[in-house]
Amino acid sequence: MIEIKNVSKWYGTFQVLNDCTTNVKKGEVVVVCGPSGSGKSTLIKTVNGLEPFQKGDITVDGTSVGSPKTNLSKLRSRVGMVFQNFELFPHLSIRENLTIAQVKVLGRNKEEAVAHGMKYLERVGLKAQADKFPGQLSGGQQQRVAIARALSMDPICMLFDEPTSALDPEMVNEVLDVMVELAHEGMTMMCVTHEMGFARKVANRVIFMDQGAIVEDCEKEEFFGNISARSERARQFLSKIL
Ligand code: ADP
Ligand code: MG
Repeated sequence: MIEIKNVSKWYGTFQVLNDCTTNVKKGEVVVVCGPSGSGKSTLIKTVNGLEPFQKGDITVDGTSVGSPKTNLSKLRSRVGMVFQNFELFPHLSIRENLTIAQVKVLGRNKEEAVAHGMKYLERVGLKAQADKFPGQLSGGQQQRVAIARALSMDPICMLFDEPTSALDPEMVNEVLDVMVELAHEGMTMMCVTHEMGFARKVANRVIFMDQGAIVEDCEKEEFFGNISARSERARQFLSKIL
């Protein structure tokens, strides 16, 4: 579903991604972890064309992200993205947040979009909040709305960039529970997260990044089952978070 091949990216002379290669198969859940500044957000944003890259290639469901012929807004409409800070439209109600892109980008009619959005809002347990505004919801609720909004576009895969790291600790699980459910339903997911409980539960593979490079990319069982076999940098990192 997602193929990242020898991708490198520079900001001026600073190399932020260094020859990254990996892939996410249909239905797979891949967790990306690594120290702050290691390039995780940049890598995940290159997948839906939010960050350009200078070398290598990325294809999503066969569409080349780097090709000038690719319609990036069309591609983005098929790739769900959930950010650390929810990024809901603050001036729109939850219902409107869930429907605006369906109408404007997918061309659905209003009723159809509302019905579709409400279905996902119900799934994340927030149907009763439809008429509220984002600022009236807790962080955990806002993030669940952001996930419902992404799902209402019927994405072929989902990208998550530290979806729980801006949340108060008591709200982390309500968001992770939604993500676990999605994983169990077979959604293809690439998740930047340090929630290793989540990784142990649903990840197929774990990627560890350091200084712009993919240092580890292995099956979950291998990653957690044999930590002494991991690179020095990965072990140091894991010793701080496990
Ligand atoms: P992570 O998500 O792993 O914390 P990022 O992908 O956000 O890492 O950032 C990787 C590196 O790139 C960091 O050193 C960061 O300072 C740098 N960086 C990110 N965005 C920019 C930018 N727009 N211009 C210059 N450097 C940037
Ligand atoms: Mg980041």
